[in-house]
Amino acid sequence: MDERIISFFKERKERFVADLKRLVDVRSVREAPLPGKPFGEGPAAALAEATAVAAEHGFSVTDFDNYAGEIQFGSAPDLMLLAHLDVVNEGDGWTKQPYCMTEEKGRLYGRGTTDDKGPAVACLYALEAARELFGEPKTGVRLVLGCGEETGSEDMEHYFSLREKLKYTLSPDADYPLIHLEKGRFAPSFSRPIGDPGSVIEINGGDTSNIVPGKANALIAGSVPEQRGAILVEASHRTGASFEVETEDGNTRIRCEGVSAHAASPEKGVNANTALLMLLVEIVEDCELKQAMQALLTMAPHGQTDGAGCGVKMSDEASGALTFNFGVLRFDGRRLSGGFDLRCPVCAAETDVKGTVAAVLSKNGFAFDGDPAVTPAHYVPKDAPIVKEALRVYETYTGQKGECLAIGGGTYVHGIEGGVAFGVEFPGTDYRIHGADEFAVTEELLLTAAMYTQIIKDLCY
Ligand SMILES: [Zn+2]
Repeated sequence: MDERIISFFKERKERFVADLKRLVDVRSVREAPLPGKPFGEGPAAALAEATAVAAEHGFSVTDFDNYAGEIQFGSAPDLMLLAHLDVVNEGDGWTKQPYCMTEEKGRLYGRGTTDDKGPAVACLYALEAARELFGEPKTGVRLVLGCGEETGSEDMEHYFSLREKLKYTLSPDADYPLIHLEKGRFAPSFSRPIGDPGSVIEINGGDTSNIVPGKANALIAGSVPEQRGAILVEASHRTGASFEVETEDGNTRIRCEGVSAHAASPEKGVNANTALLMLLVEIVEDCELKQAMQALLTMAPHGQTDGAGCGVKMSDEASGALTFNFGVLRFDGRRLSGGFDLRCPVCAAETDVKGTVAAVLSKNGFAFDGDPAVTPAHYVPKDAPIVKEALRVYETYTGQKGECLAIGGGTYVHGIEGGVAFGVEFPGTDYRIHGADEFAVTEELLLTAAMYTQIIKDLCY
């Protein structure tokens, strides 16, 4: 641990907090594009404020058309630090002010304090610390401040259409210790026409493929005979979901409630779509829709989250197993449609996941809607220099064990070759990012700034 770095940040705590407040107080939520402002007023205003703050620290920001800003320190850069200035909508339930940062017992409350304005300011201060303490680097550093991370990272598409990728990329926009592997994703929608739906009028389950649906319902013509009550109880036992039946204009609405979870860990949920299908194939008379529903259950059996039903069960040591979620289910009277979400290990690159799923769907009368894209896994080996360096610094500065994490989600560096997510959420704390009362811990942000300074010193001098 370098005492010069530690005392540098000790002396700048108040100014750091004041600078961060200037950014948090700008509501940088994406809105409709304006001329020269692809994400609307808010993200551009946050970039303008960051540019003003950076200027006060002696750095100039190159603007990439309000998609991103770039600060370069030193020449011939090797290291890119990547943070973002846009935030998600504040949502409901705040007891603090989302866009007027407040400090309370060492915590800074406000939207973006942890995701990702706090880390952005920490990186700016790391550049300043390196300049003040160590002078001009041998190889330079670029700090890139994106304005569209939360809405699909078009900011980086634009930025990298104009700039080359660097040897090392670190992004403090996820978790400590370090994420070196992010599974790939394949999330196709599919459907098949239904000529004979029997008594089923409609089915609705889930809103998006990346969530295990907690709720699904179906409307059946007419009333459901009494003896079917026992079937409901039985279905509940078998599926772990609960069912309720109510009359609706002379028809019967069946509601199924499971347990919602993120698609990256579907085993934590109880899928209401597949649970409802299990009940429907019991109570619906023989018809084309019933056969199609049975086919769906062979592709996605209730409780199965490894993709075996679609012939894509696979795993490798670094990534773990492929996960499979049946997130969306619809029947509108004419078409039965759905959405899967597969998180694919690194080894999936050797197989044709898309083709395999397409063949299984086709065998059952379904076809993809459109041409779904496959996002490959993102992987940096554990012995890559950037990984070893970041974890060494993490252990030195925190006293905690530094280890690589493999996740089913994607971070800001997904697809940036050699890039890893390093910070900023420490294990064991819920900073409520994307939720109400998001906060950051002041001392932790300064620790992040110190660690990034050390990494710059080690890699660039
Ligand atoms: Zn973020």
